[in-house]
Amino acid sequence: MLVFITFLVATVFLIIVNFNEMKKIKEEACDEKYDNKIATLPDNKQVCSELQKMINKECEIQLDDNTRSSAYIFFLDKIILSNNEMSKKSFSRILFIAHECIHSIQSRKMHIANFTLKNILNIFTFVLFIVLFLNKISVELLLTYFLVAFISFCINMILETDAIYRSLILARKYLSKYDSNEIADRYEEMVPKTIKGIYFRYASFSIYVVFIMSISLII
Ligand SMILES: [Zn+2]
Repeated sequence: MLVFITFLVATVFLIIVNFNEMKKIKEEACDEKYDNKIATLPDNKQVCSELQKMINKECEIQLDDNTRSSAYIFFLDKIILSNNEMSKKSFSRILFIAHECIHSIQSRKMHIANFTLKNILNIFTFVLFIVLFLNKISVELLLTYFLVAFISFCINMILETDAIYRSLILARKYLSKYDSNEIADRYEEMVPKTIKGIYFRYASFSIYVVFIMSISLII
């Protein structure tokens, strides 16, 4: 039971810490100084189709009023763009759309591996939760969990880092057409902070996994 309670406390702690980090990233995505300039650029759907032409990859674009963040759904080959007020006005919208466009041209095999491992990890975490509750944890199970988590992180990290850096180049190229290089300069400032936030997520989850493993083996 002690292991289960430790697992529960560590999980809540991990969620809180990551929530704060995500909040910081979201705050960084807003800068009122560029609101007027960004409003002169085409709407999100138009930006997305123009970016797609630049990378020679066209796929379906769907606007969604209910989602707060955009995403590329690899198995549907479709980009879902957030269409809430914030996404329409935010100065970072070009970079975020470019990010999803870059995801659409990444290796399909990597996307399949990322999706599969992410889901296996979610199921595994749930199983681990039950096993810990029943106090039936084994070293083999923990090591397998750690291995799956590690491979899943590596693949996700490669996909995200690649999308972040290539979207910066794509967004700069796009903004130069609209004489908006100052927005691209601001993106250059923003990206290292975003990267830091994402790596923080990987690091905190790795520490969490190692901590759970150690505690389970010690107690
Ligand atoms: Zn991404």
